Amino acid sequence: MTLLELEDVTASYGPVQVLDGVSLSVPDNGAFGILGANGAGKTTTLRAISGAVRTSGRIVFDGKDISGLRPDQVAALGIAHVPEGRGSFGDLTVRENLRVGAYLRKDRKGIDEDIDYCLDLFPNLQDRIRSNASALSGGEQQMLAVARAIMSKPRMLLLDEASLGLAPSTAKNVYDAIRRLRDESGIAMVVVEQNANLAFTVVDSATVLETGRSVLTGTSAELKGMDEIRRAYLGG
Ligand code: ATP
Repeated sequence: MTLLELEDVTASYGPVQVLDGVSLSVPDNGAFGILGANGAGKTTTLRAISGAVRTSGRIVFDGKDISGLRPDQVAALGIAHVPEGRGSFGDLTVRENLRVGAYLRKDRKGIDEDIDYCLDLFPNLQDRIRSNASALSGGEQQMLAVARAIMSKPRMLLLDEASLGLAPSTAKNVYDAIRRLRDESGIAMVVVEQNANLAFTVVDSATVLETGRSVLTGTSAELKGMDEIRRAYLGG
């Protein structure tokens, strides 16, 4: 079943058109990848979904046209966006950040259980539970950003470049946890990733963007090793 559908979505920053007809279909379980070179429009596609940029075309989530909704309205429908750069509250502790992630929820028991789940998923955060977010390493901050999004109990997670700036072993840890989350949580995921090899460790299928258009869509098995993937990442 399809949970999210983009049909011919365009978006511009001022006079510069950045998305030029993106169409994609995200299933209601598993992880779907958006791949492509620097500047292809991956981040903007996520921002279009979460209402952070104005778009034309259609964006349908769970049967409802969400194009034109504000970011808070999109979030309230169960779409959690983990942006590049992570954006935790630096002067709050790890535990406080997790609670902030759950601010729309009222189920105290569920919130406590989900905090425990996040700490089990990211043991590094357990070790830093009383630290301010600003004192965390880059990898820990990325883990906290994902955990905060989990705390909102979303139906869909938008993950932007979770490996950005991390050492390879740390990036692998983060993606191991994302894969576990994919298998255990039932949360549908859209994964934007510059590093195709890492992306293919979690996504079941993906689309490749080139200059704001989806040029190719397939399963991971079909896409791995294709010329378009090499071109998208290595520039030819
Ligand atoms: P990256 O990996 O670099 O984030 P991307 O595929 O996510 O690449 P986008 O961030 O969506 O690409 O950017 C697409 C294009 O839009 C790029 O050419 C970028 O320079 C431009 N762009 C992004 N944000 C803005 C902005 N706020 N104002 C103007 N142009 C922007």
